Amino acid sequence: MFSNIPASAIPKQGRNALKKKSMENQAYDICIVGGGIAGAALAGYLGNSGLRIAVVEKTLAEQDRIIGELLQPGGVEMLQKMGMEHLLDGFDAQPIHGYGLFMNGEDFRINYPKHEGKEVTGRGLRNGKFMQRLRQHATAHSNVTLIEGTATDIIEHNDTITGIVYKPKGADEPVQLSASLTVMSDGIFSAFRQGLSAADKKVSGHFLGLLLHHAQLPYANHGHVIITDNAPVLVYPVSSTETRVLIDFPGDVAPRKGEELSTFLNEVIGPKLPASIRATYYAAVQEGKFKVMPNHLMAAKPVMKNGGVLLGDSLNMRHPLTGGGMTVAFTDVYLLGSELLKTDFAKQENLYNAVKRFYKIRTEQTASINILADALYGVMRNNDLKMACFQYLKQGGNYAEQPVSILSAVSRDVNMLIRHFFAVAVFGMGKLLLPLPTPQRSKRAYRMLADAVNIISPLLKNEKVISVSRLTGQN
Ligand SMILES: Cc1cc2nc3c(=O)[nH]c(=O)nc-3n(C[C@H](O)[C@H](O)[C@H](O)COP(=O)(O)OP(=O)(O)OC[C@H]3O[C@@H](n4cnc5c(N)ncnc54)[C@H](O)[C@@H]3O)c2cc1C
Repeated sequence: MFSNIPASAIPKQGRNALKKKSMENQAYDICIVGGGIAGAALAGYLGNSGLRIAVVEKTLAEQDRIIGELLQPGGVEMLQKMGMEHLLDGFDAQPIHGYGLFMNGEDFRINYPKHEGKEVTGRGLRNGKFMQRLRQHATAHSNVTLIEGTATDIIEHNDTITGIVYKPKGADEPVQLSASLTVMSDGIFSAFRQGLSAADKKVSGHFLGLLLHHAQLPYANHGHVIITDNAPVLVYPVSSTETRVLIDFPGDVAPRKGEELSTFLNEVIGPKLPASIRATYYAAVQEGKFKVMPNHLMAAKPVMKNGGVLLGDSLNMRHPLTGGGMTVAFTDVYLLGSELLKTDFAKQENLYNAVKRFYKIRTEQTASINILADALYGVMRNNDLKMACFQYLKQGGNYAEQPVSILSAVSRDVNMLIRHFFAVAVFGMGKLLLPLPTPQRSKRAYRMLADAVNIISPLLKNEKVISVSRLTGQN
């Protein structure tokens, strides 16, 4: 089943030379580049299909990552649909029941609303441990082969992707691997999206991640959003003893370790955090073991090509503020996987059509998650809007539950999201204008509405929803 072509068979002249090779050594039905959240989940979902699947993953050792540590209930639901929910058990992942919001010394909690009468929960987890569970599940199927190696090139023949070249871990020579379909799921810094995507990638800021030990959260088993004058801070449990703190640094310059950063973390951020976690936070700052990751916005703009498909962050990224990335990844795995399960791999044309259908249907399921993530980040960067948002949600009832059901990704209703987004702006305008609108306050109120339109318009365009000018009647 597993027949790698010897390294000596690979021409060393690079990609162009490789294009001339034929498909005669077709060893797999599917080759997955990157056995991370999306890649490993796809291999696991298709594990029982009988399809021959190879996953090429750069590092099989458990990673210590600050990304992908809060899975929204909508992501849990996707795992359920694929028969993989049990993978959330057995490694100390924590149930998440909703969010606590903090601003200017006030705080309140919003629980995830019930769905069809049933409680829904997310999970706080260590990403590295979860990824190992996904990989173990995938390789428990005899037709899935997990290879530790770094993919270095795509093989093309007659404008069709026919496989990859990879360097096995510890080996000097590259190896060629052929497949009917190559899935590029190599994550944020994908080297293989080029040619399969027309998307622009934008860095909106960086998250600095710290791990607190034995912190007492004000709202146990909840995500915490602390809205500060600078930028939002996220706090959530990732195991029974560990709590993740993510601090936003807007702009494209990453924060650098040093005295200036320590002073900022201690003197500016520390005092804004709930008192019950401050001591453990200061200890983590002192320990200095933090990691920094860039936060991207990249709309999905796939380019169709025979034999290839993008999945996960290589296809689409949004701000991690709302913890939507893994839910989008699992939604895509479910949609693409379900298409592939119905496809006869004998004809390349069938695969092309399956991929095309996947790209078409995914938007409806992922648009609300994508729009909310960057719209909320835009709100958090705007003083009047973030105050309006906090007060709007504080009203409770549908004002809180419906937006949180979109955040949880149990609801994917874009229209409801747009309604609440503008309702926040109008609510904020009312607060500014009543009881008596001064010229200065009127100006601020108008600017708030204009800012709201400017924040959401490009996001709606990205998701091909509708234009806000049509919504507001402007040209
Ligand atoms: C700071 C931050 C915090 C986040 N927090 C959350 C959160 O709380 N909740 C949430 O849902 N989402 C979160 N996300 C997003 C989430 O982590 C991603 O959407 C998700 O991990 C995407 O999965 P993926 O499989 O595409 O990428 P990954 O999980 O990163 O997997 C990519 C894999 O490809 C491998 N790889 C790369 N190049 C090669 C190569 N050349 N050859 C072989 N293998 C290769 C890598 O080793 C890796 O294992 C966060 C993102 C950031 C930046």
